[in-house]
Parts: sequence; structure tokens; C-alpha cells
Amino acid sequence: MKTGTTCVQGGYSPNNGEPRQIPIIQSTTFRYETGEAMGRLFDLEASGYFYSRLQNPTNDMVAAKIAKLEGGVAGMLTSSGQAATFMSVFNICENGGHVVASSAIYGGSFNLLDVTMRKMGIETTFVSPDCSDEELEAAFRPNTKVVFGETIANPALAVLDIERFAKAAHDHGVPLIVDNTFATPVNCRPIEWGADIVTHSTTKYMDGHGATLGGVIVDAGKFDWMAHKDRYPGLTTPDDSYHGITYAEKFGKEGAFITKCTAQLMRDFGCMPAAVSSFMLNLGLESLHVRMKRHVENGQAVAEFLAGSDKVDYVSYPGLKGDKYYDRAMKYMGNGGCGVVSFNLKGGRKAAETFMNSLKLAAIETHVADARSCCLNPASTTHRQMTDEQLEQAGIPAGLVRFSCGLEDIDDLLADIAGALEKV
Ligand SMILES: *Cc1c(COP(=O)(O)O)cnc(C)c1O
Repeated sequence: MKTGTTCVQGGYSPNNGEPRQIPIIQSTTFRYETGEAMGRLFDLEASGYFYSRLQNPTNDMVAAKIAKLEGGVAGMLTSSGQAATFMSVFNICENGGHVVASSAIYGGSFNLLDVTMRKMGIETTFVSPDCSDEELEAAFRPNTKVVFGETIANPALAVLDIERFAKAAHDHGVPLIVDNTFATPVNCRPIEWGADIVTHSTTKYMDGHGATLGGVIVDAGKFDWMAHKDRYPGLTTPDDSYHGITYAEKFGKEGAFITKCTAQLMRDFGCMPAAVSSFMLNLGLESLHVRMKRHVENGQAVAEFLAGSDKVDYVSYPGLKGDKYYDRAMKYMGNGGCGVVSFNLKGGRKAAETFMNSLKLAAIETHVADARSCCLNPASTTHRQMTDEQLEQAGIPAGLVRFSCGLEDIDDLLADIAGALEKV
């Protein structure tokens, strides 16, 4: 099946007389006729459902669809993108471990790695996505367990050279995790370029309507954990909390990662979405391939329009000829990347405020990748505590606006932007 068909029909094929739409199994628990039958589930000797904190049939149908879309072998939904990022790393990197991460990643992922996971004894070395081979090489340590990056970084819009980072990871015997939220599998499939694990905040384009928070982890099923037995004891030695099961032995390359993530981390952390949330996510997925095309068209048109305005200092959009990441974007995302555009207004913070307050269609929101256009000025909101000099140093100048192009008619969107620019 091609991507569009999988968006619409993947993950669920009803039998004669069964519901056409995926059923919402809104049940915390499941009935068994004997204690022994249920015991077999607890031992992972049989597959089946027993408690929705670990697994739920509706969630699994949607996870299977996303796994197919990414070209992976197994997937797991989480209650947020943050939970997906955390679990994807923590599943293979525990206290004493080390992560190599691109510095151009979502702020929440940066904070998770740089502050919270450090408190758990997990160190991260950040490297620029544009670092030299020597710098990348120097970031690895004997205890490095994983490399982490983001296809198109939110909000920097830097494009990751996935092939290069995958090769560096594999040369050191560790997997590459890619957060593919902004590109979605419609525009980029990181597994085809060497990624081993793919994560998403499904809150963004996958849901696409600003309705449901969620995340997903997809495993390519290609990383050979047993070949690096000493590095991944959690997968390659017996798990006492599951009667001595060795995940990589029992479930192989294709099943080990997601089974451990479900049986151990979901069991213990419980960041599970409700079935009704997964149902809503699936409604979004059914039109993802149609919507992404429009998001990209609108993003491209808005980026080109802004680039032609004398009130704009510069525009960042990987689809724009001359953008720092244009060539890389063409390699990995030939049909376009996403609908998010960043631009810096010459008049700084004041100009950004005037511009945003003058918009009529696009709303000021802490959100992106929604059907409705929205925008944010980091200097006056998420990065409010920083001085103008600090903002400049961080590559987030005071006049920077992150504009997420929705699905509106482009003429209306451009007129809205033109009208707001006139006020500046
Ligand atoms: C929003 C976002 C996240 C975090 O997802 P939540 O669903 O908000 O927890 C992670 N990565 C990227 C790229 C994001 O944009």
C-alpha cells in the first residue's frame, strides 16, 4: 500500500459485519475465564489485553497504522510527545548511560535531556546538526547508548542529515532515534535513511486539529541488540520483573524494543492515551496525506511572500531556495517538509508584537501544525525571561516570529499577513 492508502485504511481491516470505523474500546480491563489464561499474559507467554495502562486494542490499531506509515515493524502510542521522547531514550539508556543529541531539537526534548534526565544519571552531549565529522566523533563516549535528532527542528527549522547521523551512530554500535514530528512520514521516512527508532508528537500534524495530545514510538526492527549485548543489558539479559524473560532473545530484533517499552516502561509509568484520544488521532491520520500537501503549499507561499518584504530581515524555511538547509531538505523531503515558517522582523520585539496583534486569521498560540494558522513570538512568550542580547546569542532574535501555516485559502492568509506587515 502507498502512504495515502495506509493513512486511510492501515492498521485495521474489519471482518464481515464488523464496524467500518475502528472501535473505541473504552474499557480499563478485560475478562478471562481462568486465572491461568490471564497468568500466561503476565508471563508474556500469550498475547492479549488485561489492563489498559499497558495496552489497549484501539491504541494498538492506531499504533499499527503509524508503524506502517513509517516503514517500521512495531509501534506504541503514548499520552504525549514528551512521554514518547522520554521512553524511547530511557528504554535503552539508564543511569550511567550517555546520549549524543543534536542541539537543534524541540525545547521540551532539550530540557528533558539536559535537565531532567541528567538528574536520573543520564548525560547528554549536544552537537550542532552542522558540526564537523571530528566534532561528531568527539561527542561519543564508551558509555554512549543512543544518538537523538529531529528531522526538521522545532522551532529552528534546521534539517538533520539523517544518513550521516545514522552512520556515525552505527559506527559506534548504537541506534539513532529521530523525532519526525514536523515532516511526518508523508514527507520523510527516517527509517529509509538509517534511523532505528522514530518518535512523534502526534499532537501536531498527525492529529492536525489541535484537539488531542499524544505521542508515538516506532521501531524499525533493524538494530541487533544481541550483537551489542554488554551495552544493552535491559534487552539482552533476563528481566526479573518479567520472570527472567530476555527481550532480545524471546522477541528478536523486531519485537524486543517495543515489547520491553510496553511491558516495563508503560507498566511502571503509565503514560497511556485514552482509547477515545486514539480514535480522534486516527481521524486526523485518515487525512494526513491530503493535509500535509496543503500545509507545505501554504508554507512555501508564505515563506516566498515574506522573503519579498522589506520589513523582514530574514526568513527560515527549508523549502526556500537559498535557505541554509535547502539542499538537505531536497534530499530528504523532495515533496516539501512542513508548514512552519520562521522569520525575523527588522523592527525587533515591538515590530513582532504589532505584526501579531494585527493578524485577523492567524491566532497567537503556543502551538504549531494545526489546521488553523497560528503564530508565536518567542521573545515575548516562551523565552520572555531572556534579554535581547541573550536572545540574539541563542539564535532567537527578539523580532522572530514562528508562523504555522494552516489549511486556509492561501489568498486569505497572504492578505492577512500583508495587512499586518503594513501596520509594522
Ligand atoms: C510538541 C513537540 C514535542 C512534544 O510533544 P507534546 O505532545 O507536546 O508532549 C516533541 N517534539 C516535537 C518536534 C514537538 O514539536
